[in-house]
Amino acid sequence: MSEFETDLFVIGAGSGGVRAARIASGYGAKVMIAEEFRIGGTCVIRGCVPKKLYVYASRFADDFADAQGFGWRFTHRPEFDWPKLVAAKEGEISRLSRIYEANLLKSSVDIFQERAEILGPHEVRLMQSGRVVAARHILVATGASPQMLPTIPGVEHAISSNEIFDLPKFPRRLAVVGGGYIAVEFASIFARLGAHVTLLFRADNVLRGFDETLRDGLRDALAEAEVDQRFGVLPTEIVKTDDGFDLGLTDHSRLHVDQVLIATGRAPHTKGLGLEKAGVEMDDIGAIKVDARNTTNVPSIHAVGDVTNRVNLTPVAIREGHFFADRMFGGADKEVDYDFIPSAVFTTPEIGTVGLTEAEARKSRDCVDIYQTSFRPMKTTIAGGNEKVIMKLVVCGESDQVLGVHILGESAGEMAQLLAISLRLGATKADFDATMALHPSAAEELVTLRNRTARHTRDEE
Ligand code: NDP
Repeated sequence: MSEFETDLFVIGAGSGGVRAARIASGYGAKVMIAEEFRIGGTCVIRGCVPKKLYVYASRFADDFADAQGFGWRFTHRPEFDWPKLVAAKEGEISRLSRIYEANLLKSSVDIFQERAEILGPHEVRLMQSGRVVAARHILVATGASPQMLPTIPGVEHAISSNEIFDLPKFPRRLAVVGGGYIAVEFASIFARLGAHVTLLFRADNVLRGFDETLRDGLRDALAEAEVDQRFGVLPTEIVKTDDGFDLGLTDHSRLHVDQVLIATGRAPHTKGLGLEKAGVEMDDIGAIKVDARNTTNVPSIHAVGDVTNRVNLTPVAIREGHFFADRMFGGADKEVDYDFIPSAVFTTPEIGTVGLTEAEARKSRDCVDIYQTSFRPMKTTIAGGNEKVIMKLVVCGESDQVLGVHILGESAGEMAQLLAISLRLGATKADFDATMALHPSAAEELVTLRNRTARHTRDEE
């Protein structure tokens, strides 16, 4: 009889952990999984999925306004019912969580709805029952949790993206701290749902790391949506009052709001997991260090997804979990390819991006060509409004290969997903030009960008 009770013990039933468990089990491995919160993880329960549902809810505000230009007349002003949205969201994520659970059970994975901690290279303790399991392999897939920065007096009054979805009352005045993905998405959502949103962040523009042209475009679009962006301004204190919160700010002004959302990044969820005891190496922010095959310095302990703090996106965690199981239990010899990962920021208008930004390309290539356009979407010709679509191709001036595509506009995320295929295949600007346009669409602009906007060569620098 084996000295181990299970071949694989997965800690964390989110996107990466569930995929690894199901695939490993499919190869005949005995698999156990533990989850201390709700099955489905951040993406399903309090991340991508509910966020996208709220994005849909928020965009009706634009649709109602646009509809009037197209001849629709409303006899009553549409009203928004926050508790109804929260309840509808809850129904959907509960349904998804049940599907995740059912799929695990169908795959014969043993589920433990409790916290698990590592005792050693092959031992895990279930914290509620006290049961100790001997596992041949342990996979840590615990994700990340919001970090509440800056650490200021009263920060305990603020909420994170974990709580914002379920607020009992709609915040009429909302302060959002941070200028990254989560901050701009919620600023965009809540402004459209009718809140007065103030965005406080330390940088001079939103979305550090994104292509500069898109950053400027999104900043303007947020301003158009009446988000009050305070560049280089952060809170210094949060004081609870009878009717909300009073914020002191670094520019010495004060701000009164109903809620303060902090969105200043997420930290790997490794505290108290027993990793130190097992000798697992972590970096200075607590991310688990793994090799290209997701294995730590302890050969029986592995990690996938945000807990490794590399590319913190759901599809990456899923792919890592899948390939890990293929290698470990299916005899496969393959590694995840991290090139040309598309990503979206679900503001309105949204951002879709894949490949190198202009600045990144200029650092790594001798000659970079830029093809850029900006135009008003067709709908605005009748609906009105100042919305702008921005599209940028970053092209290698020597090989003609398209290195990156960056889009701000409706369905930019959908476009980025498909563009990622072409870019992975090494498509050149000439391939884009040779592709027939689909008319009338916004995406046709990507294959009809005739004039180079700029050429950057190393000699210039
Ligand atoms: P981001 O890393 O995107 O942004 C963090 C923000 O917090 C930045 O504006 C950063 O400022 C600021 N910040 C960091 N530390 C401090 C500090 N000490 N004081 C003040 N400000 C600070 O993190 P998010 O929380 O927005 O999102 C976390 C992760 O979740 C993302 O990295 C992404 O991978 C994932 N995500 C993906 C989404 C998608 O794909 N659509 C949606 C939501 C999240 P600065 O820019 O100056 O460093």
